[in-house]
Amino acid sequence: MPKRKRNKKIKKGRGRPRKKVIKERKHKVKYVPHLLRGVRDILPEDQSYFQYVLKQAEILAESYNFQRIDTPIIEERELFEKGIGQSTDIVEKQMFTFTDKGKTKVCLRPEGTAPIVRAYLEHGMFNLSQPIKVYYSGPMFRRERPQSGRYRQFYQFGLEVIGSDKPVIDAEIISFAYSLFDALKIDVLIKVNSIGCSECRKAYRRKLVSYLRSKRNKLCKDCQRRLKTNPLRILDCKNPDCQRIIKKAPQVVDWLCENCRQHFVRVLEYLDELKIPYSLDPYLVRGLDYYTRTVFEVWPTRKSLETNFALGGGGRYDNLIKMFSNRDIPACGVAFGIDRIVEELKAEKIKIPKKKAPQIFIAQIGEFARQKALRIFETLRREKFRVVENFSKDSLRTQLELADKLKAKYTLIIGQDEAHNETIIVRDMTSGSQETIDQEKIVKEMRKRLR
Ligand code: AMP
Repeated sequence: MPKRKRNKKIKKGRGRPRKKVIKERKHKVKYVPHLLRGVRDILPEDQSYFQYVLKQAEILAESYNFQRIDTPIIEERELFEKGIGQSTDIVEKQMFTFTDKGKTKVCLRPEGTAPIVRAYLEHGMFNLSQPIKVYYSGPMFRRERPQSGRYRQFYQFGLEVIGSDKPVIDAEIISFAYSLFDALKIDVLIKVNSIGCSECRKAYRRKLVSYLRSKRNKLCKDCQRRLKTNPLRILDCKNPDCQRIIKKAPQVVDWLCENCRQHFVRVLEYLDELKIPYSLDPYLVRGLDYYTRTVFEVWPTRKSLETNFALGGGGRYDNLIKMFSNRDIPACGVAFGIDRIVEELKAEKIKIPKKKAPQIFIAQIGEFARQKALRIFETLRREKFRVVENFSKDSLRTQLELADKLKAKYTLIIGQDEAHNETIIVRDMTSGSQETIDQEKIVKEMRKRLR
């Protein structure tokens, strides 16, 4: 009993202020939205860089006769498990997967090639004249450890040529990569290697495993595991101890079968013909299982770059289509990391073309004038003038300052009188001279002045 009494007392004692506390707390714990780890917003000030890189890549792709393709961001999980390979980092650790309400195992695409191969097969594109040449761009998702230059949602631009095993295709794709960075004024080094077909890789794999086994204890934990699951991936390891071992490992080019060797030699001859500088990297294997024969990566040559991030990479994937169908169709492709290219442009202070300054600023004073100004703005915009405004401002001085800041050639001013008389003041922003004209003549007048 006394206990209950005490409780009651306490409750009573806290009763009144408590309501207040609850109210305050409710207010305090209001949900505050945050970005998820590893993803980021691309704000308006960065959009010009992203759009510029994408535009350059698109123009170039069209000039190489590629056609755009878009696939969904969401796909069946198995597409990547089978395509990229179960023992790759992407499938083992990095996929955003979930089971949807219809119990389908789905995944946010970690890369663009497997979805395009799916689309190629699903839409019977093998019936079209081969090879088909497509390009794509969009977000990819990998749950990587967040760090600078490595995001969980990042943007890629890529090309795929499906339906030809000719070495000239590999060279054309590498040539595209070279031309893209040339257009963007980024100095790059293209690293090239051949990892052969499944047959010559078998022999190489045996040789590599026997070498690496003898050094097993000196390999990092991940590589000790990879020795069983995917020994070729050890060549990709950035751990300094593993790197020392890799440097003395047998090289895959020494194990290429005659066909693969010939193929690689032809690719290099084409690159020489095009005068594309490249460097042979005998330990370049790339992270995805589907690659065969030619593989390459594009690296920035900037000395100050402490990161070890490539700007793009690709290669041949002659076995991927066979994994999903009974068709034996060779293919080759490349993907570029747009986020990293943008970072490179900024780090190297490479200027990108600025948006053209507006031709006309429309200023207004008073509510009635604003109504007329809105109509004139629409008319001029439809007539394709570069026209800007800030209708939320009231002061003429502020609006003129803004027009000046934006480097507009002319400011059109409508005050109460002009609004009633259906006239408008045309102010030349360079000379400061002003002239009043009829509103209905404005399009003709501006055409004359801006010709
Ligand atoms: P991959 O599909 O792994 O061959 O990657 C092709 C290119 O995409 C790389 O060379 C990078 O430029 C870019 N990339 C890959 N993963 C990421 C990531 N997590 N964040 C930013 N860019 C990436």
